[in-house]
Amino acid sequence: MKRFKMLIDGQIVESTAGKAAVILNPVNQEPLAEVSLGGREDAKLALEAAERAFPGWSRTDPKKRGEVLHRGADLVRNRSDEIARLLTMEQGKPLRRAKGEVLSSAEALDYYAEEGMRNFGELVPSASERSRSLVIRQPLGVAAVISPWNYPVDLLSWKLAPALAAGCTVVAKPSSRAPLAATEFVMAVAEAGLPSGVLNLVHGSGLEVGAELVESSISRKVSFTGETTTGKEIMERAAQHIKRLSLELGGHSPAIVCEDANIDEAAESCVQRAFSNMGQICISVNRIYVHEAVAEEFAERLVKKTGKLRIGDGLDPDVDLGPMFSEAQRQKTKDHIADALDKGATVLCGGHEPEGEKFCRGFFFLPTVLDRMDHSMRIMREETFGPVAPMMRFSSDEEALRLANDSRYGLAAYVFTEDMTTALRFAERLEAGSVGVNTSSVIVPQAPFGGWKESGLGRERSRAALEEYMETKHIRIGLREGF
Ligand code: NAD
Repeated sequence: MKRFKMLIDGQIVESTAGKAAVILNPVNQEPLAEVSLGGREDAKLALEAAERAFPGWSRTDPKKRGEVLHRGADLVRNRSDEIARLLTMEQGKPLRRAKGEVLSSAEALDYYAEEGMRNFGELVPSASERSRSLVIRQPLGVAAVISPWNYPVDLLSWKLAPALAAGCTVVAKPSSRAPLAATEFVMAVAEAGLPSGVLNLVHGSGLEVGAELVESSISRKVSFTGETTTGKEIMERAAQHIKRLSLELGGHSPAIVCEDANIDEAAESCVQRAFSNMGQICISVNRIYVHEAVAEEFAERLVKKTGKLRIGDGLDPDVDLGPMFSEAQRQKTKDHIADALDKGATVLCGGHEPEGEKFCRGFFFLPTVLDRMDHSMRIMREETFGPVAPMMRFSSDEEALRLANDSRYGLAAYVFTEDMTTALRFAERLEAGSVGVNTSSVIVPQAPFGGWKESGLGRERSRAALEEYMETKHIRIGLREGF
């Protein structure tokens, strides 16, 4: 069986303890590959290598750094079929979605290759005729980047690309549960011409490798995507060194469907955003609030569109939805549905595993639409991370806004209406880092992405992400008497 290794100081290495884990395919639970499992010692070696590489890389011309990132993007694109196949087999998503994810990670490298050259400073108004004040931004040092299993390649690229473009050196730790495609992605970027130690990859558990990356005095920054509870733990530990943090955490995104919405388009958007990647996406539509006057029509279309989704092995090109990632995710989904039904919800479609031989070995679950929801139900308050679209009816815009904001999360929100005033009022008052108006697609390279409230700190994507890897410095220059 192929063994995926680590990258430390420019060398492809086994873990110092020689341990490895077997990665299973969620579609049939068959072994796919082995991955070297590192520990604290390996994380230390990688951090030290990144520290040694920092002076050279941080002083490299941004244009040269950009050229390497562009070459990395080309290598990732050249290998995208192979990386996407691995991604489908370890994580479950359909192949065309996996390919889209890999290409999007190449796009991130290209974007920051260019954005890194626009690290403009400022000349601020002088405090006196005898001085001038410059403000510059400089790379902050070694960045530790820690990513989850649901978009293992894309989410890593959102961190690596701006960090490297800014001039930081990096130690990356992908999820130990879906590390294969991420490994191939990192190796491709490293092969593009990065000096040894600039980009390091360590596999292992959050409790060992992750903890070392967070607690070490070498890393000056931790960029983390994962669960809110893990983010809180990291925040506490990082406090020991007043470490810079970017935290992309859980979400519980509401979608509001107004009385005047284009019902068919709203239903289509909700189906896409509630069920893609089997709902295992942080900006998934988790709660749908529908105006009571259009609720029946909306529900009918939602159920009809949901029924058209084809489920199966992600490697089959006709499939829209693969298996869920793990039994734990599937069980949590079932528990949330059972709790809602106990409290008075009704199932409009789905609610159980699909039947048939081809589904019995994978973590399959039918996309599920629930109606008659209220906020006493867990599914309306906790992140399910499963393929469920729960509907609740409202009678006024004020009520919809109050319900939508009644959450400890604030990652994304969606509103569907044909009236621009209503759209803007909602968009301005929804407590979320991204709001989609008549769209459920809110992530683009050029715009900042991140959470309010317990959904996180800091921003990824756009120029904002570059600044997350830099420190600001004021340089005051004293002038002599002159003409
Ligand atoms: P997780 O928090 O269990 O793990 C994420 C990563 O952190 C993994 O690499 C893990 O090994 C590591 N880790 C775990 N404990 C750690 C610790 N104590 N110290 C350092 N590192 C540690 O999350 P997951 O189950 O892999 O991912 C699912 C979660 O991620 C969901 O809650 C989802 O909403 C969230 N997510 C958020 C975004 C976003 O952009 N806001 C995007 C995708 C996923």
